[in-house]
Amino acid sequence: MFVFDHPSFDDHEGVHVFTDPDCGLKAIISIHSTLHGPSSGGCRLWSYESEDAAIDDVLRLSRAMSYKNVMANLELGGGKSVILKPEGDFDRKALFTAFGKAVHTLGGKYIVAEDVGVSPADMEIIKTQTPYVAGLNSGEAASGDPSPITAKGVFLGLRAAAKHRLGKQSVKGLTVAVQGIGHVGYALCRHLHEAGAHLIVTDINQHALESAKAEFGAIVVGLDEIYKQEADIFAPCALGRAINPDSLPQLKASIVAGAANNQLSTPEMGAALHRASILFAPDYVINAGGIINIASEVSGTYDPAWVDSKLDELERTTEEIFKISKSENRPTNDVADNMARKRLGR
Ligand code: NAD
Repeated sequence: MFVFDHPSFDDHEGVHVFTDPDCGLKAIISIHSTLHGPSSGGCRLWSYESEDAAIDDVLRLSRAMSYKNVMANLELGGGKSVILKPEGDFDRKALFTAFGKAVHTLGGKYIVAEDVGVSPADMEIIKTQTPYVAGLNSGEAASGDPSPITAKGVFLGLRAAAKHRLGKQSVKGLTVAVQGIGHVGYALCRHLHEAGAHLIVTDINQHALESAKAEFGAIVVGLDEIYKQEADIFAPCALGRAINPDSLPQLKASIVAGAANNQLSTPEMGAALHRASILFAPDYVINAGGIINIASEVSGTYDPAWVDSKLDELERTTEEIFKISKSENRPTNDVADNMARKRLGR
């Protein structure tokens, strides 16, 4: 399929492809909108089954970044990048050096940070080639790994959902099924455990599962078992498309609220959740903590008080979406998408 015909193309401002045969770099940087500022979003390093799958992922992710940044009222546009993970052993330093050069050619239209498979150490390598990088561990405004702040925002959004759907002021006593306990999922589990929630978890990483069992008393279930757990809340914190025609009929939870980007396999899944009276906390609204953190770093002075105030705003925006959804009887993803598109002038 030609990129212009892709369902998520949505008039992207630019889709840039980079290669470097010496180190095996194959990367795509996708810029959806720079209306509100330079585009920013994470870089994902992933073994894609095909180049089409990588294009599909990056287009969906960069558009979601536009929506996320505009819903969080940040002076940033939406962009994202993917690096197709080279097969076998590869030189990580050479790969991220070449990628840093690629980012620099865009002259600041895209500011890169971390996403799945990429760490602050990789950002430090990129920094040797370009200033258009954030999520750093060093430097005056360095904000480091954004995951803990993302987890905090997801926790606030999830709690707002519990209040709206279940009439609960806190998550105490509620059961949350968490799919994926990596950087964000594990930190979310900690917030939930400290707030008195019961946890059911799954992951492909046995070590993380053992830790969650020991630290939070979490119940561990198989990868395919997580959807049908008797839980109040399902929290997708792995990769996208957790809510799809196979998983949705299995859900027993009355709320879906998690960190993963692009949780709905199609927008129609949002309507299906709504019909099933399952409250969906729009992913790009409640997982904006990380980019809020990055925005503070990009401003030149990292300000934790400003970050906290933006997380409070995120919670209020989530509540507003729930209220509109209820009063107009519309799916929450539809309400959020419309708000975002209006702010983007689309
Ligand atoms: P991560 O790679 O640290 O964690 C993902 C976890 O999911 C890993 O532990 C992995 O083993 C697990 N996993 C993979 N496939 C799975 C499967 N089929 N079933 C269950 N578990 C599976 O990534 P992360 O930084 O924690 O991000 C998680 C999600 O949140 C991603 O979708 C990411 O795009 C999104 N997100 C992250 C941030 C951030 O600040 N890190 C910000 C916004 C959104």
